[in-house]
Amino acid sequence: MNSPTPPVQHFIRTVIDNDLASGKHGAIQTRFPPEPNGYLHVGHAKSICLNFGLAQDFGGRCNLRFDDTNPEKESTEYAQAIQEDVQWLGFQWAGEVRWASDYFEKLYEYAVELIGKGLAYVDELTPEQMREYRGTLTEKGKNSPYRDRSVAENLDLFARMRAGEFPDGAKTLRLKIDMASPNINLRDPVIYRIRRAHHIRTSDKWLIYPMYDYTHCISDALEGITHSLCTLEFEDHRPLYDWVLDHISVPCHPQQIEFSRLELHYTVTSKRKLLQLVTQGLVSGWDDPRMPTIHGMRRRGYTPEGIREFARRIGISKSENVVDMAVLEGCIREDLEAKAPRVMAVIRPLKVTLTNFEASVTASRSAGFHPNHPEFGERDVPIAKEIWIEQDDFAETPPAGWQRLTVGGEVRLRYSYVIKCDEVVKDAAGNVTELRCSIDHDTLGKNPQGRKVKGVIHWLSAEHAVPAEIRLYDRLFTDPEPDGHKDRDFLDFINPHSLETVQGWVEPVVANAAPETRYQFERLGYFCTDRFDHQPGKAVFNRTVTLKDSWAKEQG
Ligand code: ATP
Ligand code: MG
Repeated sequence: MNSPTPPVQHFIRTVIDNDLASGKHGAIQTRFPPEPNGYLHVGHAKSICLNFGLAQDFGGRCNLRFDDTNPEKESTEYAQAIQEDVQWLGFQWAGEVRWASDYFEKLYEYAVELIGKGLAYVDELTPEQMREYRGTLTEKGKNSPYRDRSVAENLDLFARMRAGEFPDGAKTLRLKIDMASPNINLRDPVIYRIRRAHHIRTSDKWLIYPMYDYTHCISDALEGITHSLCTLEFEDHRPLYDWVLDHISVPCHPQQIEFSRLELHYTVTSKRKLLQLVTQGLVSGWDDPRMPTIHGMRRRGYTPEGIREFARRIGISKSENVVDMAVLEGCIREDLEAKAPRVMAVIRPLKVTLTNFEASVTASRSAGFHPNHPEFGERDVPIAKEIWIEQDDFAETPPAGWQRLTVGGEVRLRYSYVIKCDEVVKDAAGNVTELRCSIDHDTLGKNPQGRKVKGVIHWLSAEHAVPAEIRLYDRLFTDPEPDGHKDRDFLDFINPHSLETVQGWVEPVVANAAPETRYQFERLGYFCTDRFDHQPGKAVFNRTVTLKDSWAKEQG
């Protein structure tokens, strides 16, 4: 393997360098705080690599904390999948998994503290009224008529909210900050709502749930987070993050730092939209290999190392982070190039009969699994009277410069002889069904006499090859920004050819590989045995990525 690549310096690393140098912190503590309301996507991978990567690089710790404050949308399936993803990417959280719900009791106590200080009140405005009172970007809000209740009354009402005396949505607890603030987040934000919902961890214990902004900063403080890294949309929430921590007695005050979200061309990075693809049956599930989810990328054959390298290359900054899919594919390809054993497979087979094949004369050769890695070993590449080649390696009327097979032309079979096509066999409809070729027996491991044969094609002995289902995946969308069109739905840009399933042939050595084994199929691309469907007696391969970036050319 390549030597580990050095980290790329960025502004958050500079903040940490300074905090460690000045002694502000002895060590750093970060966290990755997903909401278990969907599977993680490639954008989350960026955040995981950042938070866990910093902890690793600076000898600190990183927590995994579920932000489980929206019970209706959350599930243990999602929480499980997220833990699997973090570990698969190569990271391990410090200690136990944390849950915001672990702090529900403390969060409640802090709310009581805020009420006691006259900094929170129970409101009874309806959602519509609340919107109206909030004002707009250009207009100040106005105070709720319930804003000046006494501390005693607020304490009593809040306790009764918890006890279930009021119906869902009838009351909220709000911070008393400033309805005239230019920052709408500071206009008395709601921090608790009444919601009779079953929670994946606390069941039916709570009828009131804390809001994200309130929960997040306190959870960070309780865990001793030093640097709370989040995406830019939270920049305007930072004053609220700081306000809450400034007004309660918490052990520390983490620094929130924002960076830009990753947006990847030709896909969508929003759990809501990904969920739509799943529920509408446009993909086979969250782990469909076309999905930009970590589960999907894994099933497709992407490597954790490749994804981590991608995260390193795209960097961390506050400016737009729109990246072309080709960058991600390039990282995967580079990683697999060095790692994946190379074998032959035929995905659109055309039968070739070697007319002068003679078992006693025609010999097989052994071939190494990787030109730069002799330690990967070798295997025999058997030849027989009938072989498979790729349909598009033959052309009856070839274009200029054609180096593959044509009638009367010669080509070398990889790791084997030079053959010449003598005859084309067609069916009644005129389709080519078979080629009849002759072997030049004097070309095994040496050049033919008196002429040059430039083309080399891959092939398999029909007698030895094992059938395989091969899933050819392509990008899920045809547009670089499927969700960037005002007047069109992102689903209008689904690529109808994003999956083609073919029956092909593979070498026997790969048919018995364990699930999630990656290979290069020579001249075709990188393929991976399917995590779930590949079984003994039923080979199933997913195309991870082609050998070259053919997309730009084809589409352009
Ligand atoms: P989505 O918008 O896809 O639903 P989210 O932000 O609601 O994502 P969370 O579970 O809250 O999802 O995200 C967990 C962490 O991952 C957050 O810190 C969030 O900022 C970060 N994150 C989410 N999407 C991206 C992205 N595209 N690029 C970088 N970080 C991201
Ligand atoms: Mg979120």
